[in-house]
Amino acid sequence: MIPIIGGSSQFSRFILMVAPSIVRGMLFLKDPTPISQSTPTCDALVIGGGFYGLYLAEYLSRQLGHVVLCEQGSELMRRASYSNQARVHNGYHYPRSILTALRSRVNFPRFINEFSPAVESGFEKIYAIGRRYSKVSANQFHQCMRRIGASVWPADKQIRSLFDFSYIEDVFHVQECAFNADLIRALMLDRLKQVDVEIRRETKVSRIQQSSHDRLTASLQSASGDQTIEAGQVFCAGYAQLNSTGVASGLPAVPLKHELTEMALVEVPPQLVSLGITVMDGPFFSCMPFPARKLHTLSHVRYTPHTHWYDGPGEYTPAYDRFNSISKVSAFPLMMRDSARYLPSIADCRYRDSLWEVKTVMPRSETDDSRPILFKPHYGLRNYHLVMGGKIDNVYDVIDVIGQTLTLGGAHGEG
Ligand SMILES: Cc1cc2nc3c(=O)[nH]c(=O)nc-3n(C[C@H](O)[C@H](O)[C@H](O)COP(=O)(O)OP(=O)(O)OC[C@H]3O[C@@H](n4cnc5c(N)ncnc54)[C@H](O)[C@@H]3O)c2cc1C
Repeated sequence: MIPIIGGSSQFSRFILMVAPSIVRGMLFLKDPTPISQSTPTCDALVIGGGFYGLYLAEYLSRQLGHVVLCEQGSELMRRASYSNQARVHNGYHYPRSILTALRSRVNFPRFINEFSPAVESGFEKIYAIGRRYSKVSANQFHQCMRRIGASVWPADKQIRSLFDFSYIEDVFHVQECAFNADLIRALMLDRLKQVDVEIRRETKVSRIQQSSHDRLTASLQSASGDQTIEAGQVFCAGYAQLNSTGVASGLPAVPLKHELTEMALVEVPPQLVSLGITVMDGPFFSCMPFPARKLHTLSHVRYTPHTHWYDGPGEYTPAYDRFNSISKVSAFPLMMRDSARYLPSIADCRYRDSLWEVKTVMPRSETDDSRPILFKPHYGLRNYHLVMGGKIDNVYDVIDVIGQTLTLGGAHGEG
């Protein structure tokens, strides 16, 4: 049974929902794709084999029965669910967005319990506050973390000696972990074997249309040819590509901001190996363990995003098309040089590689740095739903809001 966290008014305000746009959906009833006897059917179709798609597929199968999950890539969890900072958030990162900080606090124990074999906690987690240009002072950071009940201790002398205090106001020990995306994927694949989920790799869901009052037909593209499938529910968990199937089907794009991001994968010098360091809250940097490669990521608020663009009204270009068309020149030397002003020993790290990805957020996150979930039920078509979480642990908020909003089967129960 996946537990549901209550439906407080705070929680309700935290999620972003639009009212069902059934009327627009009805337009598609006029010219549905005819369903032949041989069209395969499923109770639910999930678009996207990232962490959200996998988690959702398991949940839906327990609720509804047969689920088909389509991933256009050759491997599952190889896009944003792999190429990220691997931080299991516990609130510290969001002193300017109390709701995101609080939700992180609530979801943290849930996530580390559920995925404990994939959680790396054997390192010390350090937050340092920049003396200049930080949007919060050390005192404000400390107060805010106390308010949300997150533990913060003054760092010891040895840790403090790593920093240049002409640039750093204060340094704290905190309680945060990292996750290993490869191990999460392995755990999820094991779990999916226990339920009725059919995974189709290298299969893109290109279009979707209403085939009857409450059923949908999806067009699938794969190396073995084009196909259709009929589903009772369709959930799109395409993250950066959240809009691509909808726009190709005549629906408007949901407003989203995308960034082309680079995180450098580095070997850190011995004194930094067992540390995860984050400098807050402005144009600073983080150096986090990346367990899937046994390296650290170095990311920098100024140099990690290389360029950005928006989905919204007007011409739409799928995010992965933009990603593929942009030439990628590493900003590692800039990241490293700036970070070394605060943490001199980082100058001794060795660059190994870069993780390039599209990071997608809701436009409002630009100002308050929040990471709400996006949930748009019945988006233009009855039973076509969009979901997106700004961070991994938000998956619980997505599942909770789906449970509270949609009436899903129940015949199969959760046992
Ligand atoms: C640089 C960066 C740093 C981050 N740091 C953190 C962090 O430290 N901690 C944290 O919790 N979160 C972090 N995040 C956010 C986190 O990565 C995302 O919230 C999460 O991975 C989203 O998971 P997802 O399954 O929705 O997306 P993805 O993992 O991107 O999965 C979407 C999948 O859908 C597939 N797809 C899309 N369209 C179609 C289609 N039409 N048909 C078939 N398949 C399709 C794609 O191929 C992809 O595999 C970070 C993100 C980035 C980019």
